[in-house]
Amino acid sequence: MIVEQVWTGNAYRNFNYLIACPETGEAMAIDPLDHEKCLAVAADRGWRITQVLNTHEHDDHTGGNAAVIAATGATLLAHANAKDKIPGIDRGLGAGDVIKVGATVELEALDTPGHTMSHVCLLSHTDTPALFCGDTLFNAGAGNCHGGGHPAELYQTFAGQLAKLPDATLIYPGHDYITNNLEFTLDREPDNAKAKNLLADVGGQDPDDALVSTLGLEKEINTFFRLHSPSVIARLREAFPDLPDAPDAETVFIKLRELRNSW
Ligand SMILES: [Zn+2]
Ligand SMILES: [Zn+2]
Repeated sequence: MIVEQVWTGNAYRNFNYLIACPETGEAMAIDPLDHEKCLAVAADRGWRITQVLNTHEHDDHTGGNAAVIAATGATLLAHANAKDKIPGIDRGLGAGDVIKVGATVELEALDTPGHTMSHVCLLSHTDTPALFCGDTLFNAGAGNCHGGGHPAELYQTFAGQLAKLPDATLIYPGHDYITNNLEFTLDREPDNAKAKNLLADVGGQDPDDALVSTLGLEKEINTFFRLHSPSVIARLREAFPDLPDAPDAETVFIKLRELRNSW
């Protein structure tokens, strides 16, 4: 499996992806908003885009579909429940569905509601798994819920699915928000030395050559995986004095998501 992270350079800081089979040159484009760049990368590598996949229905993820499909004849894949929100879906996906790219690549669809209620993440069946997580999980952050999602569902996705993946899993998010998100982590957990060091390393990084984190690293620097941290809970109590002595993880997650909305 070859993964190409395509930095769009737009105001929303989107990352698009091409996933190619090294044997056949067939490729899948994930959320190819910058269709010109995605088509140019595919042409440069000698790849043929045969599938387009949308992680979810927001315009900054679907906006390049028509141009890529017109240029390549690719089929369109998205969450089965997105059929009324994304025009022209050829294959609706549910949890556990396997998507093949060429002869060698297999990607498994995870049903990951929260950012929206029809959001899929893709997990590669490779020795080192890779997770293409759209707007569900970001480097050091979590997707917002004000475009059709729900924080309680997002918590369930984080705790019930993402946190259980192997620590070595490579994380490929839909946007480059790492600097802001690490600053939020440090606002919530000022004694997080790992986050402080990482911010010094990636602050001002070239998004064309962005850090690819792992789930193990996210568990250390992403507040939304640090729901039992005494510092996170103590800081949260300053904002929410009614927080119980030993708040459950879901309550902590939802309060953090609320604070992040106005960060
Ligand atoms: Zn979105
Ligand atoms: Zn987005």
